[in-house]
Amino acid sequence: MSSKAHILIIEDEKSICNFIKAALQVQEYRVSVAHTAAEGLSVITSRCPDLVLLDLGLPDRDGSQVIRQVRQWSSLPVLVISARTQETEKVRMLDLGADDYITKPFGTEELLARIRTALRHSSQPLRPGSGSCYRAGDLCIDFYRRVVTLEGREIHLTAVEYKLLSLLARSAGRVVTHDAIMTQVWGPYMEENNRILRVNMANIRRKIEKNPAEPQYIFTEIGIGYRMREEASGEENPGLSGGGQ
Ligand code: CA
Repeated sequence: MSSKAHILIIEDEKSICNFIKAALQVQEYRVSVAHTAAEGLSVITSRCPDLVLLDLGLPDRDGSQVIRQVRQWSSLPVLVISARTQETEKVRMLDLGADDYITKPFGTEELLARIRTALRHSSQPLRPGSGSCYRAGDLCIDFYRRVVTLEGREIHLTAVEYKLLSLLARSAGRVVTHDAIMTQVWGPYMEENNRILRVNMANIRRKIEKNPAEPQYIFTEIGIGYRMREEASGEENPGLSGGGQ
């Protein structure tokens, strides 16, 4: 915990590379840089970084190939940074195993927040029933007891609603794609139709959101999936303004 994480930037544009590198070094992260996919993969195997920031448009190979290759043997967090804005492209990267996706241009604060989220997830055991809780705002999920409370009052959810909510909560701060949710909640044989997901999500929002049209806990990533609000955390970097939302 005390020594800061080692982050690898795989990006061919030198100016962006330098900008990100400087922002990370201010936060005392250790930084390595690679300008091609091949160089990036070699740094990953030789120096074992804690997280990879990956550009997709690389001179030798598409960044998606890097994700595919890394995922064959590692769960190392990969955060895609790209100028490609199409939803289908984002979904493809996430389904290939990217942990998150940031579209250029992005702000430093956003980048740092996404990095902290990805690192936190990778350092946490993801075993169900490990006694952990999700807590954000007035919402609390006790995974061990399978109890959801809002402002201290228990919320009654169906089994499917609980499964859906706890899946999103365990990935809080990160987007979970429609396909990933469908597969994990309903299984791989469910037909490719998100209606059942939308209906359940509407029910959950009615139960936990004050105003379902302006959700505070579960955000829609249009065309991609859902992102649950990041947990309240006592270990945020004190040098950063955590306000705003
Ligand atoms: Ca590029």
